[in-house]
Amino acid sequence: MSNLVAIVGRPNVGKSTLFNRLTQTRHAIVSDEAGTTRDRQYGKCEWGKHEFSVVDTGGWVVKSDDVFEGEIRKQVQLATDEADLILFLVDAQNGVTDLDEQVAGILRGTKKPVILVSNKVDNNETWLAAEFYSLGLGDPYCISAATGSGTGDLLDLIIAKLPKNSDEMPDEMIPRFAVVGRPNAGKSSLINAFIGEDRHIVTDIAGTTRDSIYTRYDKFGFDFYIVDTAGIRKKSKVNEDLEFYSVMRSIRSIENSDVCILMIDATRGIESQDLNIFQLIQKNNKSLVVVINKWDLVEDKSVIVQKTFEQAIRERMAPFTDFPIIFASALTKQRIFKVLETAKDVYENRTRRITAGRLNEEMLPLIEAYPPPSIKGKYIKIKYCSQIPETHVPTFVFYANLPQYVKEPYKRFLENKIRERWNFSGCPINIFIRQK
Ligand code: GDP
Ligand code: GDP
Repeated sequence: MSNLVAIVGRPNVGKSTLFNRLTQTRHAIVSDEAGTTRDRQYGKCEWGKHEFSVVDTGGWVVKSDDVFEGEIRKQVQLATDEADLILFLVDAQNGVTDLDEQVAGILRGTKKPVILVSNKVDNNETWLAAEFYSLGLGDPYCISAATGSGTGDLLDLIIAKLPKNSDEMPDEMIPRFAVVGRPNAGKSSLINAFIGEDRHIVTDIAGTTRDSIYTRYDKFGFDFYIVDTAGIRKKSKVNEDLEFYSVMRSIRSIENSDVCILMIDATRGIESQDLNIFQLIQKNNKSLVVVINKWDLVEDKSVIVQKTFEQAIRERMAPFTDFPIIFASALTKQRIFKVLETAKDVYENRTRRITAGRLNEEMLPLIEAYPPPSIKGKYIKIKYCSQIPETHVPTFVFYANLPQYVKEPYKRFLENKIRERWNFSGCPINIFIRQK
């Protein structure tokens, strides 16, 4: 299970600069998506053979000097509840401020590892950091997020302090479903509807070091785990109004799942919180089923209203639009088995393998009829394609003479053609162009 590191601190100490530095290698690899602000809030950091997720709590606060201090305190509290390790950033060029002291007060109360990081030490003037000893969080660790100085050693320290993954892993052959969504979308109700008083629950595997739980469910031909971090069962209403509450609370479930069941409250429609979670699902390459819940409360259930709903959702989530949408009610249990059935289908799509023979038979004539546009008078030829076996996400490689000239729109074209021919509904698809 992946570890989660949260960067906290008052505005302008350099949180997003550090975040970018920690996540940049990964960003370069998955730079297909347009850079939205949400990209700056959650990412993956790879260091040696280690990987962990990073959240910049500042990404959710409006940048201004009079930013609501109470909000920052709540975020720090939430970050300490949810993350495995806290990077507390302070500004060496500015010295200790009131807000630093308030944040330190919260962090002194946590059992989680905290690293006090003194940023903006650009020229090795480490004496600047001396006054941060007074925060009572041990030695300040000096870095310059801007130049990168000290960040390698900081990464070593992070890895050393992160809890070791000792969680019992569930059976890999059994799909893991996560139920995610904003507060009050109906996640607990849906999970209860699935497994509530049911006697067919087989086991609970509780994480030894933290609260993530896989509940195995085995009935009517369904056999799966519900990935349920404590966030869903143990509610803490205090922070629910925070924009990044649902994000912090869904990261773990999403990271540990195969298929995410994203619940949207029909009475509210799709809002930025829903999109935040959707982005998390995408970033983690997970499969998706959208459930429009509380359908019982919608008076006009005509086909037109349904279509309008569906269209609005797909528009907001574009370019990824090939996923199932189900109108359900966790309360009346209307279509909840349909939700399970669909999640199971989507999992099967995720594991679908197309033989090279079939793939080339279908795709090569198409490519011949619609080849990639030539660039600088050079013709691009794709001679062969295949699906890479044993990947978590369906991944296709097309071999070309000039791979660098095959652009994003053409890859999307290839992806769409694959989707038209084979059922990959709900699943992301990776397309790579490689040198023959
Ligand atoms: P955040 O509000 O905590 O996310 O802070 P930012 O990352 O946006 O940085 C605030 C300002 O400090 C920006 O102008 C950065 O360029 C600057 N900054 C960040 N890190 C450093 C650093 O290591 N040295 C210096 N001199 N400036 C930095
Ligand atoms: P969570 O915060 O996402 O876990 O949401 P809950 O499952 O706690 O549901 C929040 C509220 O919405 C509760 O009062 C539920 O009874 C109600 N609720 C959940 N699903 C439905 C539904 O399908 N229809 C109606 N009418 N209410 C629902």
